[in-house]
Amino acid sequence: MKLQDKVAIVTGAASGIGLAIANLFVAEGAQVVYADINEGGLKLDSARAIFAKCDVSSSLELDALIKTAIDKFGHLDIMVNNAGIGSLGGILDTTDEVWEKTLRVNLFGVFYGARAAARAMKERGVKGEIISLSSILGTVGLPGAVAYSATKGGVVQLTHAGALDLAPYGIRMNAIAPGFIATNMTKDVLGNPDFQKMVTANTPLGYVGEPNDIAQAALYLASDASKYVTGTVLYVDGGWTAR
Ligand code: NAP
Repeated sequence: MKLQDKVAIVTGAASGIGLAIANLFVAEGAQVVYADINEGGLKLDSARAIFAKCDVSSSLELDALIKTAIDKFGHLDIMVNNAGIGSLGGILDTTDEVWEKTLRVNLFGVFYGARAAARAMKERGVKGEIISLSSILGTVGLPGAVAYSATKGGVVQLTHAGALDLAPYGIRMNAIAPGFIATNMTKDVLGNPDFQKMVTANTPLGYVGEPNDIAQAALYLASDASKYVTGTVLYVDGGWTAR
């Protein structure tokens, strides 16, 4: 068990990548708060797993989420800022509304989660780990995804800068940059045969990834196996960014 007695929060844990991460953490011995804006079809059958409703675009809700984890499990070791929304639109047609909503969830949400977790860890002398979901689109461009790409690039720099601020306290901060992964978020675009063809053609390994590929990366970053790793972006993308 790689996370025995650790306490973790995973945001966006009712679906896709977040659900895979939270389930793997429970299987590895952690006590996990599954946080999401909607409980959806989530069924938790372990005493080490609870659900907490949280909209990550609100800093107040994230502060309350950290308190929930500490009230229930005593402390917080691992924060996974995973919740995010997809957003399509190029620079010519992205509206103020789409721009603001995407930033609020995907970038403000990661900042609020990282800050609230870091404050709680520092206060209690916990040498914790903060993991945030970026994307290949945080590093390379794709036409028609300007707001989404901007948020994921923001997560990369938030991770670099935050890791430096937190290193003196022994708190680590890293990001994961997935390539295309089969989840609800990508169901519609990957359902388009031309788009699916473009994705596999641009992925050197030649196929779309699965949520567990990202969960395994999160487990590595959450565990002591990565104790000397901070301020990095771990690409789990079938080789997309190697081209
Ligand atoms: P997903 O299946 O849509 O899951 C995202 C979860 O986050 C959903 O349960 C969603 O709830 C929830 N959520 C949305 N807005 C929220 C908010 N304001 N507060 C709290 N929870 C919220 O997506 P996914 O593919 O697993 O994506 C997870 C993360 O990986 C995201 O940050 C995404 O950008 C990143 N990522 C995904 C891919 C990919 O190919 N799938 C690639 C690179 C990066 P609702 O369903 O009710 O909206």
